Amino acid sequence: MAEGARPLPASTPETKHFWDGTRAGELRLQRCDECRHTYFPPRPFCPKCASRKVSVVKAAGRAKLFSYVIHHRPAPGFTPPYAIAVVELDEGPRMMTNIVGCAQTPDALVLDMPLEVTFEKQTDQITLPFFKPAGGK
Ligand SMILES: [Zn+2]
Repeated sequence: MAEGARPLPASTPETKHFWDGTRAGELRLQRCDECRHTYFPPRPFCPKCASRKVSVVKAAGRAKLFSYVIHHRPAPGFTPPYAIAVVELDEGPRMMTNIVGCAQTPDALVLDMPLEVTFEKQTDQITLPFFKPAGGK
């Protein structure tokens, strides 16, 4: 079993739309109204053209495994071995996350494997988005 509680992020004015989204079962990104660039993590201006005209959009929740490392040491809230992964969303942005629903081994974690988002409530405020193999049983 994992020892202790996993450290959790806190909702801030910049990230409120994101955490409101995960609580509602949606992965929310931001898209620039000027240049149409879709980005993550949340910020109040477009990282490409610096426009402040940005909208919140719901992501499809599909991604592919871009990169990962497998940790073998225990950490609060984690049971080793566990993978810290970077996934690339269909919309383009990359996100650091955990892969759930499969073995945490190089055999099971194949780069470019299709993934889909899944949500796990941690507290009343924070629900974390994780990714699992797409089309899983
Ligand atoms: Zn822009």
